Amino acid sequence: MKPIIAITCDYEYTSENIKLHQDYYRAISQFGGLPILLPGNNIVDVEDILKLADGVLITGGADIDPSFYGESPHIELGNINPYRDEFEIVLAQLAVDRGIPILGICRGAQVMNVAMGGTLYQDINSQFERNTIAHRQKAPSWHEFHDIIIEEDSLLFNIVGERSIRVNSFHHQAAREIGPGLEIIARAPDGIVEAIAKPDHPFALGLQWHPEKMLDSQMHSQDIFNAFIDSTK
Ligand code: MN
Repeated sequence: MKPIIAITCDYEYTSENIKLHQDYYRAISQFGGLPILLPGNNIVDVEDILKLADGVLITGGADIDPSFYGESPHIELGNINPYRDEFEIVLAQLAVDRGIPILGICRGAQVMNVAMGGTLYQDINSQFERNTIAHRQKAPSWHEFHDIIIEEDSLLFNIVGERSIRVNSFHHQAAREIGPGLEIIARAPDGIVEAIAKPDHPFALGLQWHPEKMLDSQMHSQDIFNAFIDSTK
């Protein structure tokens, strides 16, 4: 039996459609996982989901309601989605507590940080003083856009085997204060957090970029999904 990977979906409340970019699904399938899709907002089912799933993938999407880290909405906050926030935060908390492998991508990494008690820049450009690097790329999504510098001996370093790689970037928010128990394991050259992990956990990794969009062009992205699926076996 392949390891079951539960993937959170987006919910478009205007059109009432549940959606998931196929890249996430494809990535899990390609590296030997059996993807199941979570529609979101089914918070009463989180316990059962975590009994079923061998791993959890929290995907990208819109902004997180800043009330979850005790702030009022900043003027540059983007759309927020109450159908996703609480469900994904509880899912991340329980997966971390129970040692279930979890990969958070973009918004998913921010969800992990908030779930562990961290905070976010609601808008990098207006709140981060050293905003010298563009984090919203104007290039195809697979394009390697900015460098990240990786901590030696971290989970990410052990996966990619390099101190510096180049990643894509599609975010205007980022982790600010890091939740207790998490560590910053990679930053962009401007200092923005690009990867977090929980060291005493089998596999709890949050990435601010989108490796699922670089699978055809970058070996590191393949290595990341390989390592994630491996950790669920
Ligand atoms: Mn970035």
